[in-house]
Amino acid sequence: MAALVDDVRTIREENPFESMMSRFDHAAQLLQLDLDLYKVLRVPNREITTYIPVFMDDGHIEVFTGYRVQHNFARGPAKGGIRYAPDVTLDEVRALAAWMTWKCAVVNIPFGGAKGGIICDPSQMSQSELERMTRRYTAELIDFIGPERDVPAPDMNTNEQTMAWIMDTYSMHARHTVTAVVTGKPIDLAGSRGRREATGRGLLIVIDEAVKKLAMKPEETRVVVQGSGNVGGIAATLMHEKGYKIVAISDIHGGIHNPKGLDISRVMAHLAKHRTLEKYPEADPVSNHELLELDCEVLLPAATENQITSNNASRIKCKILAEGANGPTTAAADDVLERNGVFVIPDILANAGGVTCSYFEWVQDRMGYFWKEDVVNERLQDIMVASFHDVSKYAETHGVNNRIAAYMLAIDRVAYITRVRGIYA
Ligand code: NAD
Repeated sequence: MAALVDDVRTIREENPFESMMSRFDHAAQLLQLDLDLYKVLRVPNREITTYIPVFMDDGHIEVFTGYRVQHNFARGPAKGGIRYAPDVTLDEVRALAAWMTWKCAVVNIPFGGAKGGIICDPSQMSQSELERMTRRYTAELIDFIGPERDVPAPDMNTNEQTMAWIMDTYSMHARHTVTAVVTGKPIDLAGSRGRREATGRGLLIVIDEAVKKLAMKPEETRVVVQGSGNVGGIAATLMHEKGYKIVAISDIHGGIHNPKGLDISRVMAHLAKHRTLEKYPEADPVSNHELLELDCEVLLPAATENQITSNNASRIKCKILAEGANGPTTAAADDVLERNGVFVIPDILANAGGVTCSYFEWVQDRMGYFWKEDVVNERLQDIMVASFHDVSKYAETHGVNNRIAAYMLAIDRVAYITRVRGIYA
């Protein structure tokens, strides 16, 4: 019976929507959000489930389940990525959509939040199967997305090519080229310079600010990175260039550890060549679970949800937890980290560099005028630094941790706009 109760607790703890809602409820209570606004903001605006028939290469049809959850439009068009994975659930997409609303509000850009996902295993699909699935999913969503409505972007297992297919399908239906319907496009297809690196660069910027605040020095700061994809790989590369000592990094199969520091450019070259970190010569193998508990000053989870839970939070040794992934820490783990004095840079702030640069891409597409990379990076730096200090100041003024401060700041901004616009009820 005890085991069953533990299982149920774990299932609840590891449901990202529950994790999001418990922080939302806590922040709303501290803000004394009025009950009507609370009722409106705690639910998504719209949830779409669509069944996507796809001709597979051998001629048979598979039907995939796809979601798009549009959480909030109060501050502008909904914005958020699309992920392809076998374990996508509606609750996960719901949580990710809400996090997008709060994230856009934390960095004060004029978007609401949305997220999409398709239950599929992209590693088992050919490029042409992925293309047909993406185009049909886009066709199903055609009345709900668009530059003024909802602007998708890449997320796990989707990329610039996926965005190009969405943009092309949408444009074919619109009968003219609509570049601003998605962000994260290839640069030559109205993408933004700096977008590919923006989430990793944003992490570097906020970690730099936290390191300064805690009177630490980059060259004496050991960093552990979980995940070596767009976020983890690029954050590790940029931090290595800046003098931080990256002592461990992983991919889905496991990680590598060298307490003296890894040469990240060689690690990334090994990964590109072999498609795995295994057998990297100058390091010891380590599992993804062990990696999280390594000695370090900065821990940067950049893979997936629920990595730091009530089971392992007490063994996390970092001083700074910079959340590259969305939802890597469960709500139950927050209290343990706070008790242990870990300085958390919460996901809705730490990984907001990506959506900030997506905002720049959307602006550039609508102007038809494209900025140089240093202009993009400078504007990103301004927004990330200001947002880091907005959240820290809010935390200090209200005597709450950084995560609750970020939620309070975001909910306050969305609630204010909702009140000003009025509720069309
Ligand atoms: P990605 O697919 O490029 O890379 C994911 C990395 O994590 C890979 O190294 C993969 O091997 C590893 N991984 C996947 N599942 C894992 C597991 N169960 N355990 C351990 N490692 C695992 O994805 P990404 O774009 O880097 O996104 C990573 C995280 O960052 C996601 O939570 C995503 O929502 C979030 N995020 C991404 C962006 C962006 O701009 N790409 C922006 C904000 C947040």
